[in-house]
Amino acid sequence: MRKILISGGSRGIGAACVRAFCAAGDAVAFLYRENDEAAAAVAAQTGAVAIRADITDRRAVDAALEQVREALGEIDVLVNCAGIGQIKLFTDLTDGDWHRMLDTHLSGAFYLCRALIPAMIRRGGGRIVNVGSMWGKTGASCEVHYSTAKAGLRGMTMALAKELGPSNITVNCIEPGLIDTEMNAALDEQTRSALCEETPLCRIGTPEDVAVAVMFFASEQASFITGQMLGVDGGYAI
Ligand code: NAD
Repeated sequence: MRKILISGGSRGIGAACVRAFCAAGDAVAFLYRENDEAAAAVAAQTGAVAIRADITDRRAVDAALEQVREALGEIDVLVNCAGIGQIKLFTDLTDGDWHRMLDTHLSGAFYLCRALIPAMIRRGGGRIVNVGSMWGKTGASCEVHYSTAKAGLRGMTMALAKELGPSNITVNCIEPGLIDTEMNAALDEQTRSALCEETPLCRIGTPEDVAVAVMFFASEQASFITGQMLGVDGGYAI
């Protein structure tokens, strides 16, 4: 049975990944930041282990990983999915906005990868799947810090893929387009339909659309694919 760790599994795309891996018979643990009720509901529904930890805090990550190891043992597949969104003019961004964004998407992935990779190397392989964004490829107005963080994940994906290939660890990145989750709850109807109109497949994506792609990169069948970015965006970023 594969052991899977997913950051940001309490809702949205991460929760869809938890459900998909559990349905495939894998043993799953997930991290989340604050909504105990949502996390408990996902855990009860799937049998996954929910652990509350802020991934921007390295000590909290280390403590959470102790719990993960107690519950599951060493991890075969890491999915870096936890994330936050914020829409703000670049010139209005505070130091806090900037650091929170980079710490969540980049430092969080860094802490988790650094802690889990040694055991993957010892065990002869593993899979890392990062969840980026199409905005990391194209850039989004009023989301410069978010776009910067997601572009950083592209670099991390490619560089880590090169470094870890000889250890039989693949590293890939999913780049979703607009997906129907609570992260986008603040978007008004006009913006949502404008984004739909610009999407060749003419719809907003579902968390399950993204989970399918995560499952593929994590699968045995994808063993010769590494360092790749895969858009799950209905064709928006073509
Ligand atoms: P969401 O807001 O529904 O869920 C975010 C999850 O991340 C939650 O479980 C939350 O607890 C967790 N999280 C946030 N900060 C954390 C922290 N510091 N420590 C631990 N956990 C933390 O978001 P979503 O829409 O499901 O997005 C998931 C990922 O997909 C994010 O990385 C996001 O940037 C990316 N993404 C989303 C969309 C979209 O349209 N929804 C598009 C492209 C990329």
